[in-house]
Amino acid sequence: QTEYAQRNPRSYEAWQEATLSLPGGGTRSSIFVHPFPLFIERGEGKWVFDLDGHQYQDFVSDFTSGIYGKSNPILKDAITRALDNGLQLGAHTKTESLLASELCARFPSIDLVRFANSGTEANILAISIGLEYTRRKKVVVFKGGYHGSVLSHFGEDDGGDLKVPYDFLVCPYNDISGTRDAIEQHKDDIGVILVEPMLGAGGCHPGTPDFLQGLRDLADEIGAVLIFDEVQTARLSTGGRQKILGITPDMTTLGKFFGGGFAFGAFGGKREIMSLFDARHPQSIAHGSTFNNSPLTMIAGLTAVQKILTQENLDKLNQMGDEFRENVNLHTSQNAIPFSITGLGSINQVHFHPSTDGSQTQSQTQMRKEGLDLFYFKLLEKGYWISQRGLISLNFEMTREDVKAFEKAVIDSIDQVYACRT
Ligand code: PMP
Repeated sequence: QTEYAQRNPRSYEAWQEATLSLPGGGTRSSIFVHPFPLFIERGEGKWVFDLDGHQYQDFVSDFTSGIYGKSNPILKDAITRALDNGLQLGAHTKTESLLASELCARFPSIDLVRFANSGTEANILAISIGLEYTRRKKVVVFKGGYHGSVLSHFGEDDGGDLKVPYDFLVCPYNDISGTRDAIEQHKDDIGVILVEPMLGAGGCHPGTPDFLQGLRDLADEIGAVLIFDEVQTARLSTGGRQKILGITPDMTTLGKFFGGGFAFGAFGGKREIMSLFDARHPQSIAHGSTFNNSPLTMIAGLTAVQKILTQENLDKLNQMGDEFRENVNLHTSQNAIPFSITGLGSINQVHFHPSTDGSQTQSQTQMRKEGLDLFYFKLLEKGYWISQRGLISLNFEMTREDVKAFEKAVIDSIDQVYACRT
């Protein structure tokens, strides 16, 4: 860490200055880096460049939302053309309805869709409408779940997160009988079951098909609205993980990359639920944020969906991720190194396992954190940028060779971390 400080004096200075006007020197807690974050001056292709003149290959990809890399020419061209048509129109546009119809066609669960400004907002709106539709109060969420900055890390004890005031019932992920037990007393009060098909920020743990199907059955039994939060997992296929598994929720929430690089959220679902927003009816529910249909976002999103997020492109990217994860896991298991990567396709999470006895003592948690930190700094030294908490996400700017070279850097870094410990 001393080396880190010595290598990055300009970032350190910029960060200190930032702390004068921003708590912790930033405006996004999730990207803070201990002891201080690097300040990035610009990005190009798969690269980011920091204030101290270092260049890193970006394997965070803005926590999965930066799937296009920094300067996709198709997006740049569309956005530049859109600029000529006016920044804010404050009106219905064809681009908006075209993007909506693309999303309805892609996601089996979406008959009608509405846009918002973030995944967080999409989830808040989806929960609210699900409760309104069922006229119930309780919301089932899962331990380790993350649905946005005020809907996060349920059931985790090292939190400190703000939460929106819903009546949450936190159930165990990937445990359908535990979930059934937990809701037993509350069946008639549960309006919404909100779940990620893979825990994202909670460690990239995929939901088992049995668990997700079990939730589908449970929601039907008790009359609750099942919402899949596919804000991250939508990049696993053109129709998200629901399409791959053939499990159709009542509603789906989306965000991140569907804005083509701009702030975005969307929530959609069954016609009878989403029709509550139909402004033709006097009793309809109002939902009207200024930037819901921002022309730049709509153009960028539509262009991305039509020209970049094709099944072929997604398959290629996800295969690279699968190979990377499998190769690293093969190396660590063959060499009995207590380390693994979990995830699906191009979304991955690093795990250090200092002990295999399964107990979670404080010192083991500490060792995990230290392992991750060291791993992070070792990769930075090699010119790779991942998230400090160990999220690795690929983007379309990367070639097979890039991912192969990164795989080697990851394996070398794991070996260095364990060498430091012995
Ligand atoms: N749901 C999931 C599964 C997410 O991963 C995230 C963001 N990481 C969100 C919701 C929130 O999206 P946003 O950051 O756009 O509010």
